[in-house]
Amino acid sequence: MNLLDSVESLKGIGPKTAATLQKFGIKTVRDFLYNLPRDYENYQYYVPIAEIKPGKVVVRGKISNLKNRNTTRRNLTITEGVVTDASGALRVIWFNQKYRVNQFSADKEYLFTGNYEFKNGRYQLTTPSATLAPEIEATSSDLAPIYVAHGSIKSLDYKRLIENSKAIFNEIPDLLPSVPKNTRKNALFDAHFADTPEKAKTARDYLAYEELFELILAAKLNKKENEKLKSDKIPINLDKIKEFVAGLPFELTGAQKKASYEIFRDMEKGVPMNRLLQGDVGSGKTMVAAMAAYEAILGGHQVAFLAPTAILATQHYENIGRTLSKYGVKTALLIGSTKNKDKLKKLIKDGTVNLIVGTHALLTDDTEFSNLGLVIIDEQHRFGVEQRQKLLLKSPEGLAPHLLAMTATPIPRSLQLTIFGDLDVSILNELPKGRQPIETKIVPELEIQEKIYPEIAKTTENGQQVYWICRTIDEDSRIETISVKKRYEKLKQLFPKCKVDFLHGRMKPAEKDEIMGRFAEGEVQILVSTTVVEVGVDVPNASLMIIEDAEGYGLAQLHQLRGRVGRGTVASFCYLITSEGTKPTKRLKELEKSNDGFHLAEVDLSIRGPGEIYGALQHGALDLRIATLADTKLIHKAGEDVNAFLENPDNMLKYKELMASIARYQQITTLN
Ligand code: ADP
Ligand code: MG
Repeated sequence: MNLLDSVESLKGIGPKTAATLQKFGIKTVRDFLYNLPRDYENYQYYVPIAEIKPGKVVVRGKISNLKNRNTTRRNLTITEGVVTDASGALRVIWFNQKYRVNQFSADKEYLFTGNYEFKNGRYQLTTPSATLAPEIEATSSDLAPIYVAHGSIKSLDYKRLIENSKAIFNEIPDLLPSVPKNTRKNALFDAHFADTPEKAKTARDYLAYEELFELILAAKLNKKENEKLKSDKIPINLDKIKEFVAGLPFELTGAQKKASYEIFRDMEKGVPMNRLLQGDVGSGKTMVAAMAAYEAILGGHQVAFLAPTAILATQHYENIGRTLSKYGVKTALLIGSTKNKDKLKKLIKDGTVNLIVGTHALLTDDTEFSNLGLVIIDEQHRFGVEQRQKLLLKSPEGLAPHLLAMTATPIPRSLQLTIFGDLDVSILNELPKGRQPIETKIVPELEIQEKIYPEIAKTTENGQQVYWICRTIDEDSRIETISVKKRYEKLKQLFPKCKVDFLHGRMKPAEKDEIMGRFAEGEVQILVSTTVVEVGVDVPNASLMIIEDAEGYGLAQLHQLRGRVGRGTVASFCYLITSEGTKPTKRLKELEKSNDGFHLAEVDLSIRGPGEIYGALQHGALDLRIATLADTKLIHKAGEDVNAFLENPDNMLKYKELMASIARYQQITTLN
């Protein structure tokens, strides 16, 4: 067995299952085994109803009195029932899952796992999962893994597939030099089949350490390899840059000046720049990128500027294009909906166009450059490995382009050096002058009418604009939320004089662009949206941000969302609405207190604390799957172990699988 064989080579996985898994990125045996459970149900610990305490619980019993009713205020369908065991009875409740009424047999026993809480004046078990008790007992040990559903392959199906593959765990070789007390095959086995929570945690920690070791090793090796590459020296063109800066409608911040100087110094050397520009939301990263681009273009190069979405690419194209065209720079936009692509590609190939802003569409094989010298990537983590590799192939032979990656996800300073060993980091830790800090307030849902609606009226009457963020697009059966569509209808009704519109991730890119465009132009006053507006959109006239069901988001995400306002000179506000019955979390309180993304990142780290197993996945600038930034101890340990590993050059020959495996990180953290 080879870990890189297709999943289809596994017993019990035919072409159809393999195709479904592949759609979700599970292509090889390795991917299949490393797709760890997102959580475990601990059926051994189901408790008698008479003894349950608030929090996550498992109870075992029969269910009766099932009925549906509709709520008027939130317009939800609520399904209620009563679970009974030998010791007592318990109310259960689901939202928008009408089918629950018909799901159960009155005479069978089920295991219900959910949150036991006090809400609306009484105790209840909220949106529990429910499984027929004998069914679970037939298939598992006391600790049952729960997998994320992959299309038609639900958790129990995945569990069966993994069980069918039990035999191959024995063949898994260790990847790393000896790690005390465990082996890779044991860790992987226990991650799927552990019978106690302790074993599951030990397994997970091993695999997190392994992932961090690979990431850090890749970073260190990248740095060495990068130093061997050549790229064109781009001399600093001080006069032209000064002229450019003098022509701006504002003064650069000290941090912007420093960062751009660091970039100029990098590009002046004959080795490729490999720099990460980290800046809090609204700190003006785009202007720094524009200066870097101008500098490269003055040096006779073309620049590719990649953005994660068409909306953002268009916005960068307009802003930077407008700013740089005064100085003779020819800019083009290349996104999916661009017309006359062939003609444009000719102009890129023959060097007529200096700066190409685009999305993935920029990376198709037939986009050729005449002299690509600098690649700028906004929100770098949104690009996959292959796309980044493609860009590299587009630079002149023998030369690597300079790379500037930008991110608004602050990585705590204490971890930067270890995690980003290969990147030089510039930090924008200063907001432009004249910005007023965004005032943030937690508002309970019940006070929306009294506190929020008047603010919307005031804001829109003053000619300012409003974002309203919802968690779901339409009804979601798992969480009790008001969807974008419902909220949109409601606001439209309440504010007949305003143009209200909505935006979400399931819309076509062209449709999203159009709506975002109208919001940016001020034609739409209130935009109801999911978190698709999270990254980068810049509408300085928007001054009110409302985030509904705020307790459901992570700190970093809330900070990003909030950063959509406070971009102009008027005072901006952010209201964090907490849903009924929930207490404001520590996270929300921290947001009320601070506007500093770097500070909040540290706080987030300390709130989560090291070793939390199933915290929110780390979607930051790193493509971590198992470890999170909260694993500070593991990060430092892995960092030390990598240093020791590198001291012996023979290791690189000895650990062949490890070296092959880290290739994916090498491509992720660098283009070169
Ligand atoms: P981010 O770092 O979040 O990407 P942007 O680059 O979008 O921030 O900049 C936010 C806004 O601030 C833009 O409207 C931009 O034109 C403006 N801006 C950038 N630098 C300055 C500055 N030095 N002074 C005032 N406004 C600035
Ligand atoms: Mg930005």
